Amino acid sequence: MSINEEQLAFDQAHIWHPYSSMINPPPMTPVESATGVRLKLSDGRELIDGMASWWSTIHGYNHPRLNAAAHTQIDRMSHVMFGGITHEPAIELARKLVEMTPAGLDRVFLADSGSVSAEVSMKMAIQYWHARGKPGKHRMLSLRNGYHGDTFGAMSVCDPVTGMHELFSGVLAQQFFIPRPETRFGQPLLEGDLDALEHMLSEHADEIAALILEPIVQGAGGMYFYSPEWLKGARALCDRYEVLMIADEIATGFGRTGKLFACEHAGISPDIICLGKALTGGYMTLAATLTTAHIGETISKGGAGCFMHGPTFMGNPLACAVANESLTLLQEQDWQAEVSRIEGQLKQKLAPAVELNNVEEVRVLGAIGVVQLHEPVTLAEIQPLFVDAGIWVRPFGKLVYVMPPYVMSNDDLATLCGGIIEVLHGLES
Ligand SMILES: *Cc1c(COP(=O)(O)O)cnc(C)c1O
Repeated sequence: MSINEEQLAFDQAHIWHPYSSMINPPPMTPVESATGVRLKLSDGRELIDGMASWWSTIHGYNHPRLNAAAHTQIDRMSHVMFGGITHEPAIELARKLVEMTPAGLDRVFLADSGSVSAEVSMKMAIQYWHARGKPGKHRMLSLRNGYHGDTFGAMSVCDPVTGMHELFSGVLAQQFFIPRPETRFGQPLLEGDLDALEHMLSEHADEIAALILEPIVQGAGGMYFYSPEWLKGARALCDRYEVLMIADEIATGFGRTGKLFACEHAGISPDIICLGKALTGGYMTLAATLTTAHIGETISKGGAGCFMHGPTFMGNPLACAVANESLTLLQEQDWQAEVSRIEGQLKQKLAPAVELNNVEEVRVLGAIGVVQLHEPVTLAEIQPLFVDAGIWVRPFGKLVYVMPPYVMSNDDLATLCGGIIEVLHGLES
């Protein structure tokens, strides 16, 4: 059954969508179903999905193996509380995550969403220093242009400008910020690029619990790719000044950047890692925060005697079962070859965009392609043009970007990139 006019009107009048207005609601594209890399609209049209539902649908929609995992688990038990109870889906998922993630991360906290896993990571860092008798180390250090989620703790470490810290001043925890690394991915480390970090740590390490960052790729704060050497240097500085490193790999995790985890580009392990988005192959919400045995034990020896967090839907068996199957699927295939195939296609097929006079730069890393414009787009204007071109692309600000499902064929990638260029060409002044 198709969404009708009345339902669309109800949506406009009553439902908040991400970052939407209630007086000037954005136009909605009704989706009936989705299979592989295609979204099927109410009017029968099909769109090639360039967004993978915000980094998450890595294996494509309606995947028979993921469907089967969900069906099997739902017939067994969809949910059961995690307090005092355990179950196989959570145990096997935790085992996989310990195996897959960078060395040393082997204490697992399962939560419901990326933002919550960011909150959990910061709480872990604060409880750790509290247990070590250094309660003064309770602030976070973050990079400008970062994005870590929409809850209050996560917001406090998002970019102060795009995160609207002004609006929430007096409510958000006051954190420390340094500029994002200037050295781009693939460039030799620029002289002095780590100075701001070193200066901050030398001044304020006694107040800072952790440096939280998105390794290598800053996502929603600017789709920016930076130097692994910088990350490696940052790891060393965190060690020298006794500050923990939290790697928010919610967007970058599970192969997106060409490594299983972006930290691997720099050959480092963070003290705490946040995972989400692609964890369930885009089927449902689930996140994980992993830390080291040392941090886990130190927290547990502290005043509280435990880690102070436990959401209602922690370790949800249905989500864990699908996540298990999604990770198995990933491990069974040569995902690295698929991601580098997509990288090659994006590089080749998006390259002509630099000739357009409204385009500032094109950049590609792994299965992420970014066309940065000179001026911000008007979503209400550009979105229907993409839909008419048969593609689903959702830009923000000056950034038109794609991170397709890993299963997207070269033909579909060509249509996707060609559609982007055609639409941007139409908007040239
Ligand atoms: C999406 C994202 C989050 C927030 O995850 P939600 O599931 O939307 O709460 C946090 N950090 C990064 C890097 C993200 O990309």
